[in-house]
Amino acid sequence: MSGNDHDYRHWRGLLDVLIEGAYIVDKHRKILYWNKAAEKITSYRKDEILGRSCMDNILMHVDEAGNSLCKGDCPLAKTLKDGKIREANVYLHHKDGYRKPVCIRVVPLRNDYGEIHAALELFNDKTPEEALKQRMTELEKLAMFDELTKLPNRRYVEERLEDFMNDFMRHKLRFGVIFMDIDHFKSFNDTYGHVAGDKVLKIVANTLLGASRVSDVVGRWGGEEFVALIKNVNMKTIETIAERYRLLVESSSFELNGESLSVTISIGATLAKQGDTKESIIKRADELMYISKQRGRNRLTIG
Ligand code: GH3
Ligand code: MG
Ligand code: MG
Repeated sequence: MSGNDHDYRHWRGLLDVLIEGAYIVDKHRKILYWNKAAEKITSYRKDEILGRSCMDNILMHVDEAGNSLCKGDCPLAKTLKDGKIREANVYLHHKDGYRKPVCIRVVPLRNDYGEIHAALELFNDKTPEEALKQRMTELEKLAMFDELTKLPNRRYVEERLEDFMNDFMRHKLRFGVIFMDIDHFKSFNDTYGHVAGDKVLKIVANTLLGASRVSDVVGRWGGEEFVALIKNVNMKTIETIAERYRLLVESSSFELNGESLSVTISIGATLAKQGDTKESIIKRADELMYISKQRGRNRLTIG
Protein backbone atom coordinates (compact mmCIF):
# COMPACT_ATOMS: atom_id res chain seq x y z
CA MET A 1 0.00 0.00 0.00
CA SER A 2 1.22 3.49 -0.78
CA GLY A 3 2.55 5.87 1.81
CA ASN A 4 0.00 8.31 0.50
CA ASP A 5 -2.81 6.03 1.55
CA HIS A 6 -3.97 8.47 4.25
CA ASP A 7 -4.61 11.11 1.63
CA TYR A 8 -7.65 9.44 0.22
CA ARG A 9 -8.66 7.02 2.94
CA HIS A 10 -11.41 9.35 4.13
CA TRP A 11 -12.97 9.22 0.66
CA ARG A 12 -13.27 5.49 0.66
CA GLY A 13 -16.57 5.33 2.48
CA LEU A 14 -18.04 7.48 -0.26
CA LEU A 15 -16.32 5.72 -3.16
CA ASP A 16 -17.38 2.31 -1.83
CA VAL A 17 -21.06 3.11 -2.29
CA LEU A 18 -20.89 4.92 -5.64
CA ILE A 19 -22.87 3.51 -8.55
CA GLU A 20 -19.97 4.56 -10.74
CA GLY A 21 -16.92 2.39 -10.97
CA ALA A 22 -13.97 4.04 -9.23
CA TYR A 23 -10.29 3.31 -8.96
CA ILE A 24 -7.23 5.13 -7.77
CA VAL A 25 -3.74 4.83 -9.21
CA ASP A 26 -0.45 6.15 -7.88
CA LYS A 27 2.07 8.06 -9.97
CA HIS A 28 3.23 4.85 -11.60
CA ARG A 29 -0.36 3.98 -12.45
CA LYS A 30 -0.37 1.15 -9.92
CA ILE A 31 -3.92 0.48 -8.78
CA LEU A 32 -4.37 1.21 -5.07
CA TYR A 33 -8.12 1.17 -4.77
CA TRP A 34 -10.97 -0.55 -6.65
CA ASN A 35 -14.60 -0.14 -5.62
CA LYS A 36 -17.59 -2.47 -5.66
CA ALA A 37 -19.16 -0.87 -8.72
CA ALA A 38 -15.90 -1.38 -10.62
CA GLU A 39 -16.14 -5.07 -9.73
CA LYS A 40 -19.69 -5.17 -11.01
CA ILE A 41 -18.99 -3.38 -14.30
CA THR A 42 -15.81 -5.27 -15.21
CA SER A 43 -16.24 -8.56 -13.27
CA TYR A 44 -12.68 -8.14 -11.97
CA ARG A 45 -12.54 -8.56 -8.21
CA LYS A 46 -10.52 -6.26 -6.02
CA ASP A 47 -7.98 -8.96 -5.18
CA GLU A 48 -7.29 -9.53 -8.90
CA ILE A 49 -6.69 -5.85 -9.54
CA LEU A 50 -5.03 -4.22 -6.55
CA GLY A 51 -1.30 -3.74 -6.90
CA ARG A 52 -1.37 -4.24 -10.65
CA SER A 53 -0.58 -1.48 -13.08
CA CYS A 54 -3.42 -0.26 -15.22
CA MET A 55 -0.98 -0.66 -18.11
CA ASP A 56 -0.88 -4.43 -17.51
CA ASN A 57 -3.12 -6.51 -19.67
CA ILE A 58 -6.21 -6.05 -17.59
CA LEU A 59 -8.42 -3.11 -18.40
CA MET A 60 -6.79 -2.31 -21.75
CA HIS A 61 -8.80 0.82 -22.56
CA VAL A 62 -9.28 1.44 -26.28
CA ASP A 63 -10.98 4.28 -28.10
CA GLU A 64 -13.71 3.88 -30.71
CA ALA A 65 -11.10 3.11 -33.33
CA GLY A 66 -9.71 0.26 -31.23
CA ASN A 67 -6.51 2.20 -30.50
CA SER A 68 -4.93 1.27 -27.21
CA LEU A 69 -4.82 4.16 -24.75
CA CYS A 70 -2.59 2.36 -22.26
CA LYS A 71 0.68 2.32 -24.15
CA GLY A 72 0.96 6.04 -24.76
CA ASP A 73 -0.69 9.05 -23.25
CA CYS A 74 -3.73 7.66 -21.51
CA PRO A 75 -6.04 10.15 -19.75
CA LEU A 76 -4.71 8.98 -16.38
CA ALA A 77 -1.10 9.61 -17.38
CA LYS A 78 -1.96 13.05 -18.73
CA THR A 79 -3.86 14.04 -15.60
CA LEU A 80 -1.05 12.80 -13.35
CA LYS A 81 1.19 15.13 -15.33
CA ASP A 82 -0.90 18.29 -15.72
CA GLY A 83 -3.62 17.99 -13.06
CA LYS A 84 -6.47 18.61 -15.47
CA ILE A 85 -9.79 16.81 -15.14
CA ARG A 86 -10.52 14.71 -18.20
CA GLU A 87 -13.53 12.97 -19.69
CA ALA A 88 -13.56 10.39 -22.45
CA ASN A 89 -15.72 7.69 -23.96
CA VAL A 90 -13.69 4.51 -24.10
CA TYR A 91 -14.13 0.77 -24.20
CA LEU A 92 -12.62 -1.32 -21.47
CA HIS A 93 -11.84 -5.00 -21.38
CA HIS A 94 -14.49 -6.95 -19.47
CA LYS A 95 -13.18 -10.01 -17.64
CA ASP A 96 -15.28 -12.19 -19.95
CA GLY A 97 -13.35 -10.81 -22.92
CA TYR A 98 -15.74 -8.44 -24.59
CA ARG A 99 -15.45 -4.69 -25.01
CA LYS A 100 -17.61 -2.63 -22.68
CA PRO A 101 -18.44 1.00 -23.43
CA VAL A 102 -17.80 3.33 -20.49
CA CYS A 103 -17.61 7.04 -19.94
CA ILE A 104 -14.56 7.83 -17.82
CA ARG A 105 -13.67 10.86 -15.74
CA VAL A 106 -10.17 11.33 -14.39
CA VAL A 107 -9.48 13.58 -11.42
CA PRO A 108 -6.06 14.37 -9.87
CA LEU A 109 -5.51 13.74 -6.16
CA ARG A 110 -3.18 16.14 -4.38
CA ASN A 111 -1.33 15.93 -1.07
CA ASP A 112 -1.18 18.66 1.57
CA TYR A 113 1.45 20.49 -0.46
CA GLY A 114 -0.75 20.57 -3.53
CA GLU A 115 1.38 18.00 -5.35
CA ILE A 116 -0.34 15.39 -7.48
CA HIS A 117 0.42 11.97 -6.02
CA ALA A 118 -2.41 9.91 -7.46
CA ALA A 119 -5.40 10.03 -9.78
CA LEU A 120 -8.96 8.84 -9.47
CA GLU A 121 -10.81 7.39 -12.43
CA LEU A 122 -14.59 7.19 -12.30
CA PHE A 123 -16.42 5.22 -14.95
CA ASN A 124 -20.04 4.69 -15.97
CA ASP A 125 -21.37 1.66 -17.76
CA LYS A 126 -22.76 2.83 -21.11
CA THR A 127 -24.12 -0.52 -22.35
CA PRO A 128 -27.72 0.01 -23.48
CA GLU A 129 -28.63 -2.55 -20.84
CA GLU A 130 -32.02 -1.23 -19.84
CA ALA A 131 -33.21 -1.22 -23.42
CA LEU A 132 -31.76 -4.68 -23.80
CA LYS A 133 -33.64 -5.94 -20.76
CA GLN A 134 -36.88 -4.55 -22.08
CA ARG A 135 -36.21 -6.16 -25.41
CA MET A 136 -35.28 -9.39 -23.66
CA THR A 137 -38.54 -9.83 -21.80
CA GLU A 138 -40.42 -9.17 -24.98
CA LEU A 139 -38.11 -11.51 -26.81
CA GLU A 140 -38.20 -14.22 -24.22
CA LYS A 141 -41.95 -14.40 -24.56
CA LEU A 142 -41.72 -14.80 -28.27
CA ALA A 143 -38.66 -17.02 -28.25
CA MET A 144 -36.84 -14.55 -30.41
CA PHE A 145 -33.49 -14.50 -28.74
CA ASP A 146 -30.53 -16.70 -29.22
CA GLU A 147 -29.75 -18.86 -26.22
CA LEU A 148 -25.98 -18.84 -26.46
CA THR A 149 -25.31 -15.16 -27.08
CA LYS A 150 -28.55 -13.68 -25.68
CA LEU A 151 -28.79 -11.55 -28.80
CA PRO A 152 -31.96 -11.36 -30.89
CA ASN A 153 -32.10 -14.29 -33.29
CA ARG A 154 -32.59 -14.33 -37.02
CA ARG A 155 -36.37 -14.42 -36.82
CA TYR A 156 -36.40 -11.25 -34.73
CA VAL A 157 -33.95 -9.48 -37.04
CA GLU A 158 -36.11 -10.45 -40.05
CA GLU A 159 -39.20 -9.00 -38.43
CA ARG A 160 -37.44 -5.77 -37.55
CA LEU A 161 -36.05 -5.62 -41.06
CA GLU A 162 -39.61 -5.70 -42.31
CA ASP A 163 -40.44 -2.69 -40.07
CA PHE A 164 -37.33 -0.89 -41.29
CA MET A 165 -38.29 -1.59 -44.93
CA ASN A 166 -41.83 -0.29 -44.38
CA ASP A 167 -40.57 2.91 -42.76
CA PHE A 168 -38.14 3.33 -45.64
CA MET A 169 -40.80 2.96 -48.33
CA ARG A 170 -43.53 4.97 -46.63
CA HIS A 171 -41.57 7.64 -44.82
CA LYS A 172 -38.21 7.62 -46.57
CA LEU A 173 -36.48 6.70 -43.31
CA ARG A 174 -33.06 5.60 -44.39
CA PHE A 175 -31.36 2.58 -42.91
CA GLY A 176 -28.46 0.26 -43.59
CA VAL A 177 -27.54 -3.38 -43.07
CA ILE A 178 -24.21 -4.63 -41.76
CA PHE A 179 -23.43 -8.29 -42.34
CA MET A 180 -20.59 -9.80 -40.29
CA ASP A 181 -18.93 -13.19 -40.32
CA ILE A 182 -16.16 -14.41 -38.02
CA ASP A 183 -12.96 -15.20 -39.89
CA HIS A 184 -11.49 -18.72 -39.93
CA PHE A 185 -13.87 -19.80 -37.21
CA LYS A 186 -13.77 -23.43 -38.21
CA SER A 187 -10.06 -23.58 -37.60
CA PHE A 188 -10.50 -21.68 -34.32
CA ASN A 189 -12.89 -24.42 -33.17
CA ASP A 190 -10.56 -27.12 -34.43
CA THR A 191 -7.60 -25.61 -32.60
CA TYR A 192 -9.13 -24.48 -29.31
CA GLY A 193 -12.29 -26.55 -29.04
CA HIS A 194 -15.99 -25.91 -29.31
CA VAL A 195 -16.29 -24.50 -25.78
CA ALA A 196 -13.73 -21.80 -26.57
CA GLY A 197 -15.59 -21.23 -29.85
CA ASP A 198 -18.83 -20.68 -27.97
CA LYS A 199 -17.05 -18.24 -25.70
CA VAL A 200 -15.86 -16.29 -28.74
CA LEU A 201 -19.42 -16.07 -30.05
CA LYS A 202 -20.53 -14.59 -26.72
CA ILE A 203 -17.63 -12.14 -26.70
CA VAL A 204 -18.31 -10.96 -30.25
CA ALA A 205 -22.03 -10.64 -29.45
CA ASN A 206 -21.41 -8.55 -26.34
CA THR A 207 -18.87 -6.36 -28.07
CA LEU A 208 -21.27 -5.68 -30.95
CA LEU A 209 -24.06 -4.94 -28.52
CA GLY A 210 -21.93 -2.52 -26.54
CA ALA A 211 -20.86 -0.74 -29.72
CA SER A 212 -24.46 -0.21 -30.86
CA ARG A 213 -27.03 2.45 -30.26
CA VAL A 214 -30.35 1.66 -28.60
CA SER A 215 -32.21 2.30 -31.86
CA ASP A 216 -30.12 -0.26 -33.77
CA VAL A 217 -30.80 -3.97 -33.96
CA VAL A 218 -27.94 -6.43 -33.65
CA GLY A 219 -28.69 -10.10 -33.88
CA ARG A 220 -27.17 -13.49 -34.47
CA TRP A 221 -28.05 -14.43 -38.03
CA GLY A 222 -26.74 -17.98 -37.87
CA GLY A 223 -23.63 -19.95 -36.82
CA GLU A 224 -20.88 -17.29 -36.72
CA GLU A 225 -22.78 -14.62 -38.62
CA PHE A 226 -24.23 -11.44 -37.16
CA VAL A 227 -26.45 -8.82 -38.76
CA ALA A 228 -26.99 -5.24 -37.63
CA LEU A 229 -29.78 -2.95 -38.84
CA ILE A 230 -28.78 0.67 -38.47
CA LYS A 231 -31.28 3.51 -38.56
CA ASN A 232 -30.75 6.92 -40.01
CA VAL A 233 -27.41 6.47 -41.74
CA ASN A 234 -25.58 7.58 -44.83
CA MET A 235 -22.52 5.99 -46.43
CA LYS A 236 -20.15 7.85 -44.15
CA THR A 237 -21.90 6.99 -40.88
CA ILE A 238 -22.50 3.34 -41.71
CA GLU A 239 -18.83 3.08 -42.55
CA THR A 240 -17.90 4.59 -39.20
CA ILE A 241 -20.20 2.20 -37.32
CA ALA A 242 -19.06 -0.89 -39.22
CA GLU A 243 -15.41 0.06 -38.72
CA ARG A 244 -16.08 0.50 -35.02
CA TYR A 245 -17.55 -3.02 -34.88
CA ARG A 246 -14.56 -4.41 -36.72
CA LEU A 247 -11.95 -2.67 -34.59
CA LEU A 248 -13.61 -3.44 -31.27
CA VAL A 249 -14.00 -7.12 -32.12
CA GLU A 250 -10.37 -7.21 -33.19
CA SER A 251 -9.36 -5.70 -29.84
CA SER A 252 -11.52 -8.07 -27.74
CA SER A 253 -9.72 -11.04 -26.24
CA PHE A 254 -9.71 -13.71 -23.59
CA GLU A 255 -7.09 -15.94 -22.08
CA LEU A 256 -6.95 -19.69 -22.50
CA ASN A 257 -4.07 -21.60 -20.91
CA GLY A 258 -2.01 -18.43 -20.78
CA GLU A 259 -2.58 -17.58 -24.42
CA SER A 260 -4.50 -14.44 -25.39
CA LEU A 261 -7.08 -15.38 -28.03
CA SER A 262 -9.08 -13.14 -30.31
CA VAL A 263 -10.84 -13.28 -33.64
CA THR A 264 -11.62 -10.88 -36.45
CA ILE A 265 -14.71 -10.33 -38.56
CA SER A 266 -15.26 -9.62 -42.23
CA ILE A 267 -17.99 -7.13 -42.95
CA GLY A 268 -20.29 -6.06 -45.76
CA ALA A 269 -22.35 -2.90 -45.32
CA THR A 270 -24.98 -1.35 -47.54
CA LEU A 271 -27.81 1.18 -47.50
CA ALA A 272 -31.41 0.48 -48.41
CA LYS A 273 -32.18 1.59 -51.98
CA GLN A 274 -35.34 2.18 -53.98
CA GLY A 275 -36.63 -1.18 -55.20
CA ASP A 276 -34.95 -3.19 -52.43
CA THR A 277 -36.70 -6.07 -50.73
CA LYS A 278 -35.77 -7.64 -47.41
CA GLU A 279 -34.06 -10.41 -49.30
CA SER A 280 -32.19 -8.20 -51.76
CA ILE A 281 -30.65 -5.96 -49.12
CA ILE A 282 -29.45 -8.89 -47.01
CA LYS A 283 -28.12 -10.62 -50.10
CA ARG A 284 -26.18 -7.50 -51.11
CA ALA A 285 -24.68 -7.10 -47.62
CA ASP A 286 -23.76 -10.80 -47.59
CA GLU A 287 -22.08 -10.54 -51.00
CA LEU A 288 -20.12 -7.47 -49.89
CA MET A 289 -19.03 -9.42 -46.81
CA TYR A 290 -17.84 -12.18 -49.11
CA ILE A 291 -15.76 -9.66 -51.06
CA SER A 292 -14.12 -8.70 -47.74
CA LYS A 293 -13.24 -12.38 -47.27
CA GLN A 294 -11.68 -12.55 -50.72
CA ARG A 295 -9.74 -9.37 -50.14
CA GLY A 296 -8.01 -10.88 -47.11
CA ARG A 297 -10.59 -10.83 -44.24
CA ASN A 298 -10.75 -8.54 -41.20
CA ARG A 299 -12.01 -5.75 -43.41
CA LEU A 300 -15.06 -3.86 -44.47
CA THR A 301 -16.57 -3.55 -47.94
CA ILE A 302 -19.25 -0.96 -48.52
CA GLY A 303 -21.59 -0.83 -51.46
P1 GH3 B 1 -14.33 -17.83 -43.22
O1 GH3 B 1 -13.25 -16.93 -42.75
O2 GH3 B 1 -14.29 -18.04 -44.69
O3 GH3 B 1 -15.69 -17.39 -42.75
O4 GH3 B 1 -14.03 -19.26 -42.57
P2 GH3 B 1 -14.85 -20.00 -41.43
O5 GH3 B 1 -14.02 -21.12 -40.95
O6 GH3 B 1 -15.27 -19.00 -40.41
O7 GH3 B 1 -16.15 -20.46 -42.20
P3 GH3 B 1 -16.91 -21.83 -42.26
O8 GH3 B 1 -18.28 -21.49 -42.79
O9 GH3 B 1 -16.12 -22.85 -42.99
O10 GH3 B 1 -17.02 -22.32 -40.77
C1 GH3 B 1 -17.91 -21.79 -39.85
C2 GH3 B 1 -17.65 -22.48 -38.54
O11 GH3 B 1 -18.45 -21.92 -37.51
C3 GH3 B 1 -17.99 -23.95 -38.59
C4 GH3 B 1 -18.78 -24.19 -37.32
O12 GH3 B 1 -18.24 -25.26 -36.61
C5 GH3 B 1 -18.63 -22.92 -36.53
N1 GH3 B 1 -19.82 -22.63 -35.73
C6 GH3 B 1 -21.06 -22.31 -36.17
N2 GH3 B 1 -21.92 -22.18 -35.12
C7 GH3 B 1 -21.19 -22.42 -33.99
C8 GH3 B 1 -21.51 -22.45 -32.58
O13 GH3 B 1 -22.65 -22.21 -32.14
N3 GH3 B 1 -20.48 -22.71 -31.73
C9 GH3 B 1 -19.22 -22.96 -32.17
N4 GH3 B 1 -18.28 -23.20 -31.26
N5 GH3 B 1 -18.91 -22.97 -33.47
C10 GH3 B 1 -19.87 -22.71 -34.38
MG1 MG C 1 -20.16 -18.13 -42.14
MG1 MG D 1 -16.69 -17.47 -40.95
